[in-house]
Amino acid sequence: MTVIEKIKTSQHPLISVEFFPPKTDAAQAAFEKGAAELAKIHPDFVSVTCGAGGSAAGPTLTVSRQLHSGGYDIVMPHCTCVGMSRADLAKSSDELVTHGFKSIMALRGDPPRGGEAFKPDPDGFRYAAELVAFLRDRHPQLCLGVAGYPEKHPEAPTFEEDIRHLKEKVDAGADFITTQLFLDNSAYFQFVNRCRAAGISIPIVPGLLPVISLEQIRRMQTFCDFHVPAKLLNSLEAAQNDPVAMERIGLHWAIEQISELVERGVPGIHLYLLNRAKTAFYPELFACLSRIRGQ
Ligand code: FAD
Repeated sequence: MTVIEKIKTSQHPLISVEFFPPKTDAAQAAFEKGAAELAKIHPDFVSVTCGAGGSAAGPTLTVSRQLHSGGYDIVMPHCTCVGMSRADLAKSSDELVTHGFKSIMALRGDPPRGGEAFKPDPDGFRYAAELVAFLRDRHPQLCLGVAGYPEKHPEAPTFEEDIRHLKEKVDAGADFITTQLFLDNSAYFQFVNRCRAAGISIPIVPGLLPVISLEQIRRMQTFCDFHVPAKLLNSLEAAQNDPVAMERIGLHWAIEQISELVERGVPGIHLYLLNRAKTAFYPELFACLSRIRGQ
């Protein structure tokens, strides 16, 4: 089954989790343990990033295969244009399809951390819309996800322009959108309104980071733009010498976000757990996710 088929047929909003390929042996061991534990919350699908922080497509395939053989039915590898020519993208997408992956998240990607602006491969693509069109043509049966930005992509001069380019990805054949993380639900609701007004009608899955510390927020803000509501920031700052209290504040914030989003009819909740399965087992968050799945 593909992600879009699952979205369309599910009786409840989907729960999905993003993993990234571990870079060290210790991280690999922690990842394997976390992935096995996380299977207990039965995510409807999982995704695996590509290239974030400079890793290549190979580790994405390896980790996607591990997750699939570890019992995750629907695994969605990410595919980016970074350092990839059309021939490379043809080869790597063929490989994903050969290994049985039916859904791919199609992205432009970011240069490795510390790098400058994104530079396309001389025989590659400048924008994700071009990759979507290429994949749609080469593998018409694939389900394709694309990225959306409730607080605008940082390089886009205006919201209108960013939404226009998002529409180009949809017109090129994207099946659904997953959003960048946001900590203020009003950003998501306004974004959905803008998309609908621009004629984008595919499902828009909110991406959420259950925050565990101020330090984590600061680290995440070095590679993606998002606003931290004053109420959350003040509470975290007041608790910054108490890691347990900070985690409780962040996770309760996530539970409130999830509850409101589900109440207002979102197609799913995509969790950026950063390979940290423990977060999902925080009792109130676990109960909230179980409720969504009707368990
Ligand atoms: P695009 O849709 O191409 O947009 C990039 C910028 O170009 C935007 O500002 C857009 O408005 C602009 N633009 C688009 N088309 C045009 C045009 N024709 N003319 C002028 N401007 C245009 N990064 C990774 O490296 N690996 C990952 O695995 C990864 N996974 C992600 C998953 C999700 C759900 C999200 C939200 C992001 C992810 N990212 C990942 C980050 C993403 O690669 C970056 O945000 C990147 O900067 C943009 O990628 P995109 O696919 O949105 O690009």
